[in-house]
Amino acid sequence: MSAIEVFADNLGNYLEPEQVNLVRRAYFYAEQAHDGQTRRSGEPYVTHPLAVAHILADMHMDHQSLMAAMLHDVIEDTGIPKDALIEQFGDTVAELVDGVSKLTQMTFETKAEAQAENFQKMALAMARDIRVILVKLADRLHNMRTLGALAPEKRRRIAKETLEIYAPIANRLGMHSLSTEFEDLGFKAMYPMRSMLIDRAVRNARGNRKELLNRILESLQACLEREGLQGKVMGREKHLYGIYQKMRGKKKSFNEIMDVYAFRIIVDKPDTCYRVLGAVHSLYKPFPGRFKDYIAIPKANGYQSLHTTLFGMHGVPIEIQIRTEEMEELANNGIAAHWVYKSKDDVINGNHARTRQWLKSVLELQQNAGNSLEFIENVKIDLFPDEVYIFTPKGRIMELPKGSTPVDFAYAVHTDIGNSCIACRVNRRLAPLSEPLESGETVEIITAPGARPNPAWLSFVITGKARSNIRHFLKHQRHSESIALGERLLDKVLASFDTQLSAIPEARIQAVLNDCGMELMEDLLADIGLGNRMAYVVARRLLASGDGTSEDEPQKVDQPASAEDSGEKPLAIRGTEGLVVSFARCCNPIPGDPIVGYLSSGKGMVIHQENCRNLAELRHNSEKTLHLTWDKDVSGEFTIELRVELEHQRGIIAQLATGITVADASIDKISVDERDGRVSVVQLVVRVRDRLHLSQLIKRIRNLKGVMRITRLKN
Ligand code: MN
Repeated sequence: MSAIEVFADNLGNYLEPEQVNLVRRAYFYAEQAHDGQTRRSGEPYVTHPLAVAHILADMHMDHQSLMAAMLHDVIEDTGIPKDALIEQFGDTVAELVDGVSKLTQMTFETKAEAQAENFQKMALAMARDIRVILVKLADRLHNMRTLGALAPEKRRRIAKETLEIYAPIANRLGMHSLSTEFEDLGFKAMYPMRSMLIDRAVRNARGNRKELLNRILESLQACLEREGLQGKVMGREKHLYGIYQKMRGKKKSFNEIMDVYAFRIIVDKPDTCYRVLGAVHSLYKPFPGRFKDYIAIPKANGYQSLHTTLFGMHGVPIEIQIRTEEMEELANNGIAAHWVYKSKDDVINGNHARTRQWLKSVLELQQNAGNSLEFIENVKIDLFPDEVYIFTPKGRIMELPKGSTPVDFAYAVHTDIGNSCIACRVNRRLAPLSEPLESGETVEIITAPGARPNPAWLSFVITGKARSNIRHFLKHQRHSESIALGERLLDKVLASFDTQLSAIPEARIQAVLNDCGMELMEDLLADIGLGNRMAYVVARRLLASGDGTSEDEPQKVDQPASAEDSGEKPLAIRGTEGLVVSFARCCNPIPGDPIVGYLSSGKGMVIHQENCRNLAELRHNSEKTLHLTWDKDVSGEFTIELRVELEHQRGIIAQLATGITVADASIDKISVDERDGRVSVVQLVVRVRDRLHLSQLIKRIRNLKGVMRITRLKN
């Protein structure tokens, strides 16, 4: 029988016949796709995916995982597109294969140790389906088992990655067997000499230990029998990498480590665990402070067991783990074990439900223990991440809260980068600054000297750092812009008295500042710019003679009839005044329109069209309004509203939109109101440069066939 048929035969133990057939089909597909390719060892390539599926079948993983295992290198190595897999095997399997390929492409080149942990988290975060990780782990395990065929350089790189990334991931998922095998294989490949020496020492020690080990084992078994307790007692050995780490980390000698005798007792139910504990504690005296109850308080990955250390005969330390069959299975296979226990349960189908179920069970264990914090830190974040992991162009990994945008990323890299960013590339493509980022993406921020944060960013950034930096910058900017506007307003009034700010004596300025309770002229100017004080009043005070009489005696200076009708040249609007000058929404003035400014306390200046109806009311407050003109170099785009009535015909809205774009105006909003079957009314919010531009635009729209009437809306 061929290898695949033997495999398929065994699958019959826990899968339905049609599921086995699907796995078989995936195998044949992979065999054909990899046809002609061989492994380094010379075997046909397909032996590798088959071996990976084998590893997963040993964990009793579902048929879709096994299919993905068969196909896991097909996208990466044979150029078969994902779409072809969707067609052949459906979305789920194709997604799994695609996920594994993406993880494979992400080669890990550690520059800093701290990167490794982020990389582990990123790998988990990227795999929305946890089975992607399990297939990837099985793939890596088979590659580690067959590492010998590779060149030394490559061997070391893969071994390092395994120790730093894959062994910890397996551990996080509670897959102890897998993580120890990763560690021992990785250790052997990274440090062949050290691993060989420890291996040899363990073999030697084993002979010396054998007699004592058996005596302890027998006494433990006899003890259980006396107490009428069912339990399987086994000796256990530490794995090589574990010994090595103990020697390095805890600075223990090899003999100290090997002098400890370790056993595991497997029993039927949790209650028995405690009874066995009591029995062994009466057999040998326990070490004080070494008892750990991981049944009541499980480890973060769901591990449960009782641990204790005893003084054996002649004072030999004996380490004992006591757990149930089910706990043993969970300790070895972690999340994969959960698949097995629940796989017969029809209520829980679908992978997410199962992963959640696993998490829920671990969470419940933790909650019962009143210790969910560690769990949340270690497990939940990894599997249902609240974070995204983003690469900088240089390969550094940044951790950001989920939903972060390129602007958040820019501020996380550096405040200056955030403040001067104008655009970004995500995976080398230009992307909007507001688009939420996803784990694994590489983000490059494009900056420009003199660029400034946009107030609109506040509507989408989510990190505190970005938000507070943008706010801080805008506040600062608003302050300096209000100073500039205040200075212009004050100068204008002073000019009508034939003087200027620089001609006012310093002592006079100081007196006015004292009077206003201010220290700096800048603050006073900012107050004028913001509309909190009137330039006219401030000017009068500045011009009053400083003879000690009341500051509020305007008679002492010549007074123009009103600020508005001074006959002086009106203030010119440039369009670049920034945050302190805004354009009224009611009448949407554009360059060329006659305009009037209204100083609104705290807001700065709002510009209206001269004939705006809202202005009629505001004008009662004549000190707060002032005539304005447009500067001849006015710049920017200005919003207007248009109303177009047209005869309804196919494609007319598209033609209208095209016409506007061709006229070089941009559309902010378009809404269509069908009046009756024949006539439609379209409301447009459009940005134009000035009146001339607007009239060209209107002309173009009017020439469209079907357009009956077009009006610019006011109020
Ligand atoms: Mn592979």
